[in-house]
Amino acid sequence: MRRYLIAGNWKMNTNRDTAVSLAKSIADGSQAATGSVDVLVCPPFPYLIPVQDAASESQVTVGAQNCYFEEPGAFTGEVAAEMLADLGIQSVILGHSERRHVLGETDAIINRKVLKSLEKGLQVVLCVGELLEEREAEKTNDVLDEQMAGGLASVSAEQMANVVIAYEPVWAIGTGKTASPEQADSAHAHLRKWLESHYTSEIANGMRILYGGSVKPANAVELLSQENVDGALVGGASLTAENFVPIIEAGA
Ligand code: PGA
Repeated sequence: MRRYLIAGNWKMNTNRDTAVSLAKSIADGSQAATGSVDVLVCPPFPYLIPVQDAASESQVTVGAQNCYFEEPGAFTGEVAAEMLADLGIQSVILGHSERRHVLGETDAIINRKVLKSLEKGLQVVLCVGELLEEREAEKTNDVLDEQMAGGLASVSAEQMANVVIAYEPVWAIGTGKTASPEQADSAHAHLRKWLESHYTSEIANGMRILYGGSVKPANAVELLSQENVDGALVGGASLTAENFVPIIEAGA
């Protein structure tokens, strides 16, 4: 049985006050559900610590949205995986489509970040997903294969215990367009098959594969009821407890 994970990706939103009050309302509102579902919130770097403090009495865990692949040193403006681990941050989102397509991150860069984060003991939420033109050209599975092989290169079977995959079709992110439950389940099933052929069936069956892309309270129950959907990575709807808590409850 895979325990669901509901993760909130706050992106470059909130300020110190709203981040803290959002974390508190999520921690309060999700109390009953966290017995059976994992909850993760990922604020911007400057608010990691205030959010960690705000959630410290709860089961809500805190993650970062990115990190760098080098050891601490002369890399102006970057944040090392080791620094996140040092703060007690448990998770990091890597390979998000905004980093791939806005910031130009390649699979090779993402892979180095994945390896360094795992080495430092962080849980990695690795995002994969196709562009609209790739889906229309029926290349979805090829794109997913390439991003999985690229992002997970040299990741050992043992390290896979600390990996979560998030399938996020780029055309569904922040657009209000959600993949249909069938589209999500079929992409997730493909990813699970990939994991089985590149690792083991045990790893494939145990892997949590989250769906991301315009998840909201109104569609969460149906998406999460799909056989291969084991949670959600939520952007816009994670910015208010009114929207995020019902999504957590849908996963409980
Ligand atoms: P969205 O974002 O829920 O606003 O579509 C999801 C994501 O980018 O992780």
